[in-house]
Amino acid sequence: MATGTPEAPPVRSLLAGRRALVTGASSGIGFAVARGLAAAGAAVAVNYHSSREPAEALVEEIRAVGGRAVALGADVSKEEEVAGLIDRTVAEFGGMDVLVANSGIQKDAPVGEMTLADWNAVISLNLTGQFLCCREAIRAFRAAPEPEGRARGAIVCMSSVHELIPWAGHVNYAAAKGGVRMMMQTLAQEVAPERIRVNAIAPGAIRTPINKEAWGTPEALERLLRLIPYGRIGEPEDVARAATWLASDEADYVTGTTMFVDGGMALYPGFVGNG
Ligand code: NAD
Repeated sequence: MATGTPEAPPVRSLLAGRRALVTGASSGIGFAVARGLAAAGAAVAVNYHSSREPAEALVEEIRAVGGRAVALGADVSKEEEVAGLIDRTVAEFGGMDVLVANSGIQKDAPVGEMTLADWNAVISLNLTGQFLCCREAIRAFRAAPEPEGRARGAIVCMSSVHELIPWAGHVNYAAAKGGVRMMMQTLAQEVAPERIRVNAIAPGAIRTPINKEAWGTPEALERLLRLIPYGRIGEPEDVARAATWLASDEADYVTGTTMFVDGGMALYPGFVGNG
């Protein structure tokens, strides 16, 4: 090696030895994130709500290649179930270092037809559910001895480009994601002195069951692509790679930020050509 050339960093798994919980990991983005964290070396608790089988199948897949994983059922909009979920994660792995608060739903309607039940259902899961998961994770991080030379814990909240972009016909969803942004930043400010990092990912249009009507036909996809400067729909793995990095020590100095994984959707593409 030439004198003065810095040594190449050693090859290593970004999350070796870390213990993670991913909520809503039986499908879509959560499934890919759980798989991605495991591939980076983390032990992963795969939370599911109503679909146990895909979560169990992912656990089998991870174990088959020598990884550690467990499937844990819980409704993360319920306080006691979230507490139990975190307790079971800690008991299974002997601690917890990473939370990806991912679970979310849509219940769309124009405002005049939006019921209080649909407003409450979305706020209860997409905002309150993330708060409950963050609070319990922070309690678990605090209960463990402080690790040497790295963060005590890392949280990644799954937000959306709709923490920024208003979305007619989805006032419950956009309000929840706007709330997630300020919750994430406030928590990041509050717990940074304890060396707990809190960040968010704002996915754009990602190919999952939640938004199938937006990409499920060629016509719908063509309309959607007009909103994406990068010219393709996102895949769950695009989000998984960002979550893996944010959870890792590579992001040790990153807290209180939202990483947009959206192919440029939040860049106001309607203004191309001067609007
Ligand atoms: P998805 O429908 O595939 O996944 C949602 C997950 O939430 C499922 O695993 C579901 O089981 C789980 N869930 C639902 N109710 C739950 C409950 N009560 N308790 C625990 N888990 C519950 O959709 P997705 O696209 O993978 O969505 C994941 C997250 O990403 C959501 O927070 C969503 O708002 C966000 N997001 C998605 C997109 C996109 O384009 N797909 C864009 C921006 C943000």
